Amino acid sequence: LTGFVGFANLPNQVHRKSVRKGFQFTAMVVGESGLGKSTLINTLFNTTLYPPKEPLPPSAERPQTVSIESISADIEENGVRLRLTVVDTPGFGDFVNNDESWKPIMENIEERFDSYLEQENRVNRQKIVDNRVHACLYFIQPTGHSLRPIDVEFMRQLHTKVNLIPIIAKADTLTDEEVADFKARILADIAYHNIHIFQAPTYENEDEEALAEAEEIASKIPFAVVGSDKIVTTPDGRQVRGRAYPWGAVEVDNEDHCDFVKLRQMLVRTYMEELREYTNDVLYENWRTEKLVSMGV
Ligand code: GDP
Ligand code: MG
Repeated sequence: LTGFVGFANLPNQVHRKSVRKGFQFTAMVVGESGLGKSTLINTLFNTTLYPPKEPLPPSAERPQTVSIESISADIEENGVRLRLTVVDTPGFGDFVNNDESWKPIMENIEERFDSYLEQENRVNRQKIVDNRVHACLYFIQPTGHSLRPIDVEFMRQLHTKVNLIPIIAKADTLTDEEVADFKARILADIAYHNIHIFQAPTYENEDEEALAEAEEIASKIPFAVVGSDKIVTTPDGRQVRGRAYPWGAVEVDNEDHCDFVKLRQMLVRTYMEELREYTNDVLYENWRTEKLVSMGV
């Protein structure tokens, strides 16, 4: 059942009414080009939202700024409809000077808040379209060292505006030990800079199973992931989503190989509704209050 995305769990997470209407969910991906962002989105949602790219001819002019590209798909599973939008940010970190790479991304997130506020202020509030970004997957280069200034700056600027989910890209290029050390240093940097990353909420009277699940997911952050849209054969003859190497196969859906399963659990299966709620109740609300205060309302 590797192809099963799992958002049909959502009826357990929310009211029946929103099930009928379908869900809107917007995920943003940020990180230098080549870190596997498009591949991971395809892997997560088991779609080809991003078809394989033709390599750019050498003469092709590359834009000199970060651009924002959004792509949507309707996916349906067990009678539950999900309107998925992925916001890609090509160009981030790709230039000689990346000092302000975070700015166009911040502007885009705030424009989406603005559009929501404008709809809320309309007389007819029946058909509000929620284009706010509910989660931002931030791809960290698998250097094995620690966060770079561009990573810290992006997260410091954006953490009060969006649910940050840090990810170690292409984790198959690091050994298990390198991943463990890298994770510890990333978490230390995040704590040192007082960066707030999205945490699975734990409710007071939650059952033990839910608590254990939340803790297990939390223990994997930053998720070390491997993406692949290819089926490969393991040495023992199984067909799996993964990446083939001379010494064997790295399996996307194998929890001993990478944290993909836990990331999917966080983003899609268990906490999609919490990501939407936190965006609405905390991130958007704080932004709105600040804006009204600054306007002297
Ligand atoms: P993007 O520019 O960040 O969207 O990166 P792409 O998804 O286009 O991937 C860039 C290249 O990296 C492609 O050749 C992918 O096959 C490869 N790639 C994607 N994910 C992984 C991964 O987890 N591990 C490894 N080793 N390569 C990957
Ligand atoms: Mg891409």
